[in-house]
Amino acid sequence: MKIAVLSGKGGTGKTTFSSSFAFVTKSLLIDTDIEEPNSHIFLKGKTSQEVSIFNHFPKVDMKKCTLCGKCGDFCRFNAIIPAKNRVVIFGESCHDCGGCQLVCPTNAISWEKREIGKIFVEKSYFNSDLLYGKLNIGEMSGVKIIKELHSMAKSEDIIIDCPPGTSCNTVNALEGSDFAILVTEPSPFGLSDMKLVVQLLQDMEIPFGIVINKADNENSEILDFCYKNSIEILGELPFSREVTKSYSEGKIIADALPDSQEIFKNILKKVKEYGN
Ligand code: SF4
Ligand code: SF4
Repeated sequence: MKIAVLSGKGGTGKTTFSSSFAFVTKSLLIDTDIEEPNSHIFLKGKTSQEVSIFNHFPKVDMKKCTLCGKCGDFCRFNAIIPAKNRVVIFGESCHDCGGCQLVCPTNAISWEKREIGKIFVEKSYFNSDLLYGKLNIGEMSGVKIIKELHSMAKSEDIIIDCPPGTSCNTVNALEGSDFAILVTEPSPFGLSDMKLVVQLLQDMEIPFGIVINKADNENSEILDFCYKNSIEILGELPFSREVTKSYSEGKIIADALPDSQEIFKNILKKVKEYGN
């Protein structure tokens, strides 16, 4: 079963949850939060393989180019802009779609490539597998890294630590998920960002449930929203000094606080019920 873990914004406890979930289930974890991956900090693995991921970007032969402008009109990312006497290329903005070459009437466009990031293959300290991607600084799109992470993930049971929010990266990270766990926290921003992700999951028709992190007496707005929209609360992670301390020490909660394992096991049981 492919289970995606996501959140409306960064800092809600998505990785705290997914690393504990991986610890309890011993499933393969793929960290697709490529702009800020940090699962490996908690899983403390050893890297066994590093894979470079490349993007292609256009190169224009000005001897063939007539400055017709068709490539610029086509590119919705403004990565290729015909100017007065040359064509300017912004390689970091190019999404490698190949469209500019298709529309060029004089066959003036060929390709160059550059590394946009890497994928790391690791074995965690509790002996399960981790794959995580890292986008190079300055790159605009890491979709290719996320797609490659998915194709390298060979296992029946996979936990996907998704990028926060509802970006293009999140949509690609969610592809093929059987179920999504949306981690949120009881704060006004937490609820408002959560609603956007709920909308995304409904649009993508992925079944999902909510986990409330840092749960305290202020959960009522989230509970109301879930009740009105028939969304299941899968579980709650308490707001406690011990949890905060474990997190700040880079420890997996389910390992540092064994009593908490029951919470993750119950959540897994509820998720599996959706799969049956
Ligand atoms: S489409 Fe081809 S010919 Fe036209 S401006 Fe672009 S590179 Fe030049
Ligand atoms: S390959 Fe696609 S994204 Fe890149 S410059 Fe050409 S049209 Fe734009």
